[in-house]
Amino acid sequence: MHFDLLIKGGEVVNPGGQSGRLDIGIRRNRVAAIEPNIPAESAAQVVDASGQIVTPGLIDLHTHVYQHVTFWGIHADPVAARSGVTTWLDVGSAGAFNVLGFREYIARPSVSRLYALLNISSIGLTAMTGELANIEYCDVDLCVKLIEQNPDLLLGVKARIDRNTTRGTGLEPLRRARTAADRVHRPLMVHIGGGPPSLNEVLDLMRPGDILTHCFTGHDMRIIDDTGVLLAAAKRAWDSGIILDIGHGAGSFSFETAEKLIDAGHKPDVISTDIHQMSILGPLYDMPTCLSKFLALGMSLEEVIAAATVRAAAAMGMADEIGTLRVDALADVALFRILEGDFPFYDVHMNQRNGKQLLRNTMTIINGRELPRSADGPIAPWIELSENQTNLVARGHSPDKLAVTHCC
Ligand SMILES: [Zn+2]
Repeated sequence: MHFDLLIKGGEVVNPGGQSGRLDIGIRRNRVAAIEPNIPAESAAQVVDASGQIVTPGLIDLHTHVYQHVTFWGIHADPVAARSGVTTWLDVGSAGAFNVLGFREYIARPSVSRLYALLNISSIGLTAMTGELANIEYCDVDLCVKLIEQNPDLLLGVKARIDRNTTRGTGLEPLRRARTAADRVHRPLMVHIGGGPPSLNEVLDLMRPGDILTHCFTGHDMRIIDDTGVLLAAAKRAWDSGIILDIGHGAGSFSFETAEKLIDAGHKPDVISTDIHQMSILGPLYDMPTCLSKFLALGMSLEEVIAAATVRAAAAMGMADEIGTLRVDALADVALFRILEGDFPFYDVHMNQRNGKQLLRNTMTIINGRELPRSADGPIAPWIELSENQTNLVARGHSPDKLAVTHCC
């Protein structure tokens, strides 16, 4: 047999590479061929992808998957199997004091590819917020040491900068995160929300290749002014090569901000979910739902897939291996149906927009193997449905019904 697995008859959307009606031959854990009309007889197993979209396995640049140890963490594999997300970057759930547990108990047994940014706070996101309130926890030497000892897992540094996380420590945690990122020559991801500090103060400490997450927030560190125009400092930062990443989450995505920016031609570089205990039951749900919102906002299918594959891979410095279906890339593949209809979508403020298309994952392949679909991990006992989630339930979007739609 020439191939172990053949994905046949699908419409391939492979940004930056070959796209169109193509078949994909997989040998062991690598893409071995991407060509039209590969004979079924050449493979040990054939997947009929007719009528479906075939993409590189999606990459989620903003996740929280340190389950049972940190406040926000969910279990990645069950969500990967029903969402097409094959690579997960956990951003700051772990800090220096608990990252070895992340490595041993989360990353090592995971089927999904897991990587992390190390929180500048040594305690990471064990609690809901306030991780930067004690400046002694922002230990640059320790952060650098752990990244240098775990370079295969830790791709950079994370700092959540808003008034709740810093609680009076101001910009000092960000300055320390900047120093740590510079010393390991890896990117810094900064979260923004409600200031102080101000957006400008944050941008002054960021460099090309760094990632500004929650970039379409509606809170007062947002990147547009009151008339909806992109701020000059944000434009300079974006033009210089700072990566703008969505990080939808439960508090950080505003349709109003998104519409103002996209209508003016400013599309996000990366679309990520910020999936966690508080967002997985809505209004985020998962990556395909998040991408469908951007289809509703007028981005094309190719654009939203690029924002969740090649662009995210480049931000992680892994563009040769993941986020692409080119020959010799890792055999991570996602299959989707595009449902046509009238679908309500909500931002974190419960503003509604309707879309005509809903992406639904039908199969997820990692290292050439299909992930089995299974029940999601439990929601943590300290989580109660938020006001937004309660509203969604009232509108008929109960988590149960969504679970049914998710598992087509
Ligand atoms: Zn987050």
